[in-house]
Amino acid sequence: MICNCGAASSTTTPHHSLQAGGKPNQRKMVRRTVYVAFRASRDARRELGGGGAVREASREYFSIVSTYVAPTFMVWFRRTTTNDRTRGRAPDIHVHWLTNDAITQKLGLTFDGLSAATLSGHPRYVFINTRNWMQPPSHWRNVSDYRRYVAVHEMTHAGGVGHVTRSSPCTTDTLDVMEPQTKPVCGRLSSKYTLKSLALISRQKKLGGFLRDLPSKKMPNTQMHY
Ligand SMILES: [Zn+2]
Repeated sequence: MICNCGAASSTTTPHHSLQAGGKPNQRKMVRRTVYVAFRASRDARRELGGGGAVREASREYFSIVSTYVAPTFMVWFRRTTTNDRTRGRAPDIHVHWLTNDAITQKLGLTFDGLSAATLSGHPRYVFINTRNWMQPPSHWRNVSDYRRYVAVHEMTHAGGVGHVTRSSPCTTDTLDVMEPQTKPVCGRLSSKYTLKSLALISRQKKLGGFLRDLPSKKMPNTQMHY
């Protein structure tokens, strides 16, 4: 179902960790590096518009999560490849471009029309629904807003964070980015973290967040969220 074709181009991020050996209080500020690999199924590549379009979509996804997710978790994302184990680092997170059909075949009809991610285990997986990426659900005003939402939402799941729920629906002006919004909610949209979401992220950071401090052996993925 998933092929190795369409692997993304090499690392382009300019980020660097702080120098080791600094003052003790600076060491706390060193961001860990989380390695991210992209690939697309043959059908997903076709839906995105070819190999060049896969590279562009992966670049856009990476840019969004580097801007909005990496600073929140105090990590750097760096790109790596899944098929170069001699030069590259093994991915911590695999981002797969999949068609809606592939997602429902893989995960079941609960995920029809949705993207998905694992919240635990190592490595972790993000499945981005290429149909939505190309043509967002109609309640979204524009493509870039939806792409930012879905990229941030699923990558934050990969950081171990579940959904934020409201006790009184539809009474606030904005929705939390960790509320699922691919399907309409309250007629409002947001890609911002609210305090609830940031509290969840803070807790996950203490638990390991993207898991760079755990042994590198493979761990089973135990949860899948949309
Ligand atoms: Zn979700």
